[in-house]
Amino acid sequence: MKFQLKQRFHIPASFLILITLLLSACATSPTGRKQILLFPESQMAQMGVAAYQQTKKDTPISKNSKSNDYVNCIINAITPKVDADTEWEVTVFDSEQVNAFALPGGKIGVYTGLLEVATNQNQLAAVIGHEIAHVTARHGNARVSASTLTQAGLVAAQVLAGSASKEKQQLLGLLGLGAQVGILLPYGRGQESESDILGLVYMASAGFDPRESVQLWKNMAKASSGKAPPELLSTHPANATRIADLNRAMPDAMIIYNKARAQGEKPNCKK
Ligand SMILES: [Zn+2]
Repeated sequence: MKFQLKQRFHIPASFLILITLLLSACATSPTGRKQILLFPESQMAQMGVAAYQQTKKDTPISKNSKSNDYVNCIINAITPKVDADTEWEVTVFDSEQVNAFALPGGKIGVYTGLLEVATNQNQLAAVIGHEIAHVTARHGNARVSASTLTQAGLVAAQVLAGSASKEKQQLLGLLGLGAQVGILLPYGRGQESESDILGLVYMASAGFDPRESVQLWKNMAKASSGKAPPELLSTHPANATRIADLNRAMPDAMIIYNKARAQGEKPNCKK
């Protein structure tokens, strides 16, 4: 069969620009996933810092020195093992929320409610490692990029700088503050599983027992029975797939853990 093009197609310039932008924005994540990243990291960091400052204004900060020392002890053990050119900062929020987040720009938040569910240093390190991995794998950028592509006209940075709006709430959710702003924007399964794997590497490299990550997610699931589920669960479902994936990654994580322990990485963070 013969097929002839009778007419040349006219491709609008804006479409060509979009295609070029997408091709140049396609990046590979730490575990080899393809993702579209439209924003320079410096801009993502600015957004993260702005969202963090707002959260610090809106949420009481814990003055309990024991809780602060405990969380800082874990952060100080893990962050040197994270291969990222970032200065990490943590704030402990005095809130019953069972929650934690890490934002682009290295801004971490831990809610005191989480300390009741993550019952030891290893379990809290599992949550923190996982959240840090969302930042290092640039999942916030991927989510804001995807949202920008579907919502023509949304200029992310302007929306964030502006006053309260539906778009602003949504953007805060995409950055990783989903449960805080009441908009449930779970990470994709691929992003979750990537953060689980990277998180295991981070915690194990710092000498935290990676096996406790499985217990952490079991505690999360248990805490959700009978009452309102932990906030972290609304964006991070603790389902059987997650636990099966963690168990599958455990032999490799244990090798890293045993090596780290042998090299003297023995954190001793106490509540
Ligand atoms: Zn996650």
